[in-house]
Amino acid sequence: MSEFKETAGKVLDQYLVPNIERDEGQGTFCFEAQKELGKLGLLAPLLPEPWGIDNVYYQTELAEEMGYRCCGFGTSSLASTALFGANIARHGTKEQKEKYLPGISSGEKIGCWALTEPQVGSDALSVKTTISKDGDGYIVKGSKTFITNAPISDYFLVMARFEGEGIDGGVAVILEKEMAGLSTGNPFEKMGNKSSPMSEIFIDNVKVSQDHILGELGKGFYDMKNSLDIERVVYSALSVGIMRFCLETSIKYSAERKQFGKPINSFQMIQDKIAKMASSYEVCTSYLYTIAEKMQKGENINREAAITKYFIGKEAFDVANEAIQLHGGYGYMKEYNVERALRDTKALEIGAGTSEIQKLIIAKQAIKNWL
Ligand SMILES: Cc1cc2nc3c(=O)[nH]c(=O)nc-3n(C[C@H](O)[C@H](O)[C@H](O)COP(=O)(O)OP(=O)(O)OC[C@H]3O[C@@H](n4cnc5c(N)ncnc54)[C@H](O)[C@@H]3O)c2cc1C
Repeated sequence: MSEFKETAGKVLDQYLVPNIERDEGQGTFCFEAQKELGKLGLLAPLLPEPWGIDNVYYQTELAEEMGYRCCGFGTSSLASTALFGANIARHGTKEQKEKYLPGISSGEKIGCWALTEPQVGSDALSVKTTISKDGDGYIVKGSKTFITNAPISDYFLVMARFEGEGIDGGVAVILEKEMAGLSTGNPFEKMGNKSSPMSEIFIDNVKVSQDHILGELGKGFYDMKNSLDIERVVYSALSVGIMRFCLETSIKYSAERKQFGKPINSFQMIQDKIAKMASSYEVCTSYLYTIAEKMQKGENINREAAITKYFIGKEAFDVANEAIQLHGGYGYMKEYNVERALRDTKALEIGAGTSEIQKLIIAKQAIKNWL
């Protein structure tokens, strides 16, 4: 384990863990942990210096530690740093980086990344939110839904398009909370990740100047693909963290719980579950960090990101399900948190592109490579 991972884990133990019950119960985000990680310079390793250390590997380790403790916190924390922040770092001007990244990397400000719309999910290139020229600036109009952090965001990175244009008409626009015409809906009631506030965004003729356009006009959809690859890998680390939690909890419980006069871990059917969980965890961890290393070297990992997200998402769901079964009735209760693991991990088969969409990417490239 790296020193970075160990330190981040200790900070999360101190500032996140005591608040999980509060935040999962009330649907609130743990600003205490976000700000403390920020204060210590640990919050956004993916960002370049001076806001981070330009390191995907450490970002992945941090996400694993978050997933191990509370996937809801990780989902929101990463949306601010690894989605909003990383997009600004990759495509922003010097002024944009200096304006937005200090607050994001310190945890004092929260950002979100808004692509999905009420009528546009998997078919991401069909976004209906429009941008049009208005004097020296632009007007943005539309709505977004299922946006992680929308209710708590200071900054919103919104995908829009010039009306009537296709893939070459995409524009990423930075909106700010105070802007006239921008509002968010009530936080959604969700199955899991309850400490990650999410809502709709309403963009009612919001006027922006040129310095709110991120990257080149018309290149928004191309930049978005890059962002999704990173999201797919880093968010999969939340799943690996959940698997580690489930495995550890199950091993401990099955050593203590006795039935028929013996610890249940002496039964071969329980050992079968432990073997499956341990194998899934080890294979997924190994693949995840291999791909994180490739990303760090700047290699194109579009296919691998899809494999990572699809495979790890599926395995994590199965591991959480096995963990509940191993705990019997106690697994169905809140006490051991394995039921939370199952509810939380389901989101990782949907967000950032569903498993079906990942399989389309994987199959297309496999056929191209091997036919
Ligand atoms: C916890 C969570 C957090 C999220 N956070 C964000 C966020 O911060 N920002 C953001 O922009 N979005 C966010 N989303 C939205 C997420 O990206 C979308 O839900 C996802 O892309 C799927 O879109 P959809 O819900 O509209 O489903 P749809 O696209 O309507 O899909 C419905 C079903 O049809 C399947 N399907 C669709 N097209 C095909 C096809 N061509 N072939 C086979 N099957 C297909 C899908 O796989 C799915 O099973 C989040 C979602 C969740 C659950």
